[in-house]
Amino acid sequence: MNQSHSTLVTRHSSLPVLPGATLGVLGSGQLGRMFAVAARRMGYRVHTFSPERDTPTGQVADAETTAPYEDLDAVREFARSVDAVTFEFENVPAPAVEAVGRDAPVRPSGEVLHTTQHRLREKSFLSKHSFPVTPFRRVASVEDLRAGLDELNYPAVLKTADFGYDGKGQRTIKCADEADEAFAALGGREGILEAFVAFERELSVVAARGSDGAVASYGVVENSHARHILDHTVAPAGVSPAVARRAEEIARALLEQLDYVGVLCVELFLTGDDGLFVNELAPRPHNSGHFTIEACAASQFEQQVRALCNLPLGSTEQFRPAAMANLLGDLWQNGEPDWRSALAVPNVALHLYGKRAARTGRKMGHLTALAHTTDEALRTVLAARASLDRRA
Ligand code: AMP
Repeated sequence: MNQSHSTLVTRHSSLPVLPGATLGVLGSGQLGRMFAVAARRMGYRVHTFSPERDTPTGQVADAETTAPYEDLDAVREFARSVDAVTFEFENVPAPAVEAVGRDAPVRPSGEVLHTTQHRLREKSFLSKHSFPVTPFRRVASVEDLRAGLDELNYPAVLKTADFGYDGKGQRTIKCADEADEAFAALGGREGILEAFVAFERELSVVAARGSDGAVASYGVVENSHARHILDHTVAPAGVSPAVARRAEEIARALLEQLDYVGVLCVELFLTGDDGLFVNELAPRPHNSGHFTIEACAASQFEQQVRALCNLPLGSTEQFRPAAMANLLGDLWQNGEPDWRSALAVPNVALHLYGKRAARTGRKMGHLTALAHTTDEALRTVLAARASLDRRA
C-alpha cells in the first residue's frame, strides 16, 4: 500500500457512504446478520469476512469471503472490494483490522477494538478516566493471584484477560484453597482478578455516536443471565430516574472519551445502595439491544449502518415497553421447537439466526414481545418461549 492511498482513505473517511455502496463486516454471526438485514433494507450491499462458510451473516449478505483472519492477502482483497468496514465480533485479530484499515475506513476504530478486546486494557482505560469499576489486579503468576486475593479479599472473580465472553474462562474464588485450581484454569494465559460486586441487578446501555459527534442512547435496560449467558432483557429497566440518568451519562462520557464512531454497549452492575460499576464494554450492537428492532424508531443495527456511513443517527425513541428472550441450543434437545405455538402469541417476533447445529448454550435466535408494560412484555415473551418446548 502506498502512502498516497492511505492518505486518501483517511481523507475520505469523513465523506458519507451512500446507499448502493458495499459495506464490509468482519465476523459472520447473528450480529452481522442483523446488521446486514438493516443495511440491505437501506439499499446497501454487504460483504462478510470470516473463517466459516454458510454463516448467519453470509446467508443474508451479497458476498461471503471464507478465509482465516491471519490470511492478510485475503483480508486486503476483501477491504479493496468494500467502501467501509465494521465488525460484529470484537475478537478479530489486530493485524487483520490494521490490514483492512489501509484500504477502507474501519468504524469503530482499530484503537477502540484494541482497548475493548482485552479486559485488562479495558479496565485500566476505565479506571484511568475515572469511570466506576470494581478494583482489579493483573494476574501473570500464581504469586500475583495470591497477592491480589490478599488485597481484594474473598470472593473474587478471576477471568482470562483476552477472548472472554459469556463467562467463558471465568472463576469465582471463595477461599485461599481455590487459588491454585483457578490459576491452572487460566491455561497459561494472562488473567485479571476482580473484587466481587454484590450487585442487585445487571443493566446495560446501548448507545451510538456518529462521526459528527452526535450521541443517541436507547436508555437503560435490565438483563438477567443464566449460566453466565444472557437469558432475557427488559426495556426500559425498572430503575429510578437518577440511576437511569447516571447510566446514560456513563455511556455518553465513554463514547466521547473513546472518540467513538459506531454502536457501543456498556454493561453495568447496580448495587443495593444505587452504586453503578462498569463491568464490560462491547464495541458493537449487543444482545441486550435486540429489542430495538421492533420497539424503536431506528434499531441498533440501523444505527450501526448510519454511524459507519457517516450519516445522521436515527431516532432511538421506544414506542412500547419490550422484553427479549434468547433461544439457546438447549431448546432443540427434544427435537425442533414448536414454532407454531410461539408464533400464535400476539405481539411476539421470532428471530432465528440460520445456525445448523443446536449446541447447548449456543445462541440460535431470540423472541421479542411488545406490550403495554414491561411486566406484561416479560410474561408474554417467557410464555412464548416456554411454548416452544415440546415437553411442556
Ligand atoms: P463477564 O464475562 O465479565 O461479562 O461476566 C459474566 C457474568 O459474571 C456477569 O454478567 C456477572 O453476572 C458475573 N460477574 C462478572 N464479573 C463479576 C464481578 N466482578 N463481581 C460479581 N459478578 C461478576
